[in-house]
Amino acid sequence: MATKSINFSKFSSMKIGGVLDVALLEMCDSTLENHYLIGSCNNILIGEQTPLLVVLSKKYDYITIEEGVLKIGAATPSGKIASFCKKHNIANFEFVSHLPGTLGGLIKMNAGLKEYEIFNHLIAISTCQGVKQKNEITFGYRYTDIFTTVLEASFELSYGYDLEKVAMFKKMRANQPSAPSAGSCFKNPPGDYAGRLIEAVGLKGKRVGGMEFSTVHANFLVNADKGTFEEAIFLIQEAQKRVYEEFGIWLECEIVVLDERYMGANSPLLKTHF
Ligand SMILES: Cc1cc2nc3c(=O)[nH]c(=O)nc-3n(C[C@H](O)[C@H](O)[C@H](O)COP(=O)(O)OP(=O)(O)OC[C@H]3O[C@@H](n4cnc5c(N)ncnc54)[C@H](O)[C@@H]3O)c2cc1C
Repeated sequence: MATKSINFSKFSSMKIGGVLDVALLEMCDSTLENHYLIGSCNNILIGEQTPLLVVLSKKYDYITIEEGVLKIGAATPSGKIASFCKKHNIANFEFVSHLPGTLGGLIKMNAGLKEYEIFNHLIAISTCQGVKQKNEITFGYRYTDIFTTVLEASFELSYGYDLEKVAMFKKMRANQPSAPSAGSCFKNPPGDYAGRLIEAVGLKGKRVGGMEFSTVHANFLVNADKGTFEEAIFLIQEAQKRVYEEFGIWLECEIVVLDERYMGANSPLLKTHF
């Protein structure tokens, strides 16, 4: 099996993690089923007891138009999708230029900005378990029930790249911290904002070691100065505990924590284990 050595302190958007050998997925292979699939680690906090990891090979980095349908390989970076759509005057993907990641990660997370989500114009996905039409997938706010490897997605094709939308998304990003992060740390609970709740319990700007709930936007857990996994986990749990005690609301992680101690049904990050 081909592998690739990845230094996660450079590769991951949070700039946390060691150097690990990651398997390369060329073809769907049952020996990789016990591996955890990563994209470009823009939504992942890498821990110290990581599961075996796998990443799609470059073979899945492509964009084509076939019979009026846009087909994108799951390893394609969001920046490449945005540039392609701009160059070919394609509508509805303007928001992805502000969402760092690969198509596979965007699909799994149903990533988006406000009501602009990657599922909006999706037709189907190709996975290691065959093709799934959009109506066969359950999806919602930063959630999908996709538990297999996405290899490709097809989208409705319409023309009209909209520069006004690009400007609007840029403006929406104005309050985003520039320090390394994985975007929003927690999902917004129904009818509220995770950032407001973190601020309300006094954790906006709270720093432990090199990690901090940003002073710019409280729901961004930023790596201000050589932060570590343990510091990040401490702050995540502190926010969950304080917000639950004060408001009875459990903050669910939007970021994916890759450490065996914090994964699965027994994770201490789940409300059931508080
Ligand atoms: C500064 C910043 C701002 C951000 N702002 C936003 C925002 O506004 N809205 C938003 O939604 N997100 C935001 N994010 C998060 C991030 O952009 C998205 O979650 C993105 O989809 C992550 O893609 P990735 O390839 O890096 O996935 P990873 O972080 O590597 O993985 C995320 C999840 O996707 C799964 N996955 C990856 N590839 C595949 C595949 N091929 N098949 C199946 N599953 C796969 C992984 O197993 C994991 O569960 C932000 C991140 C940063 C750093």
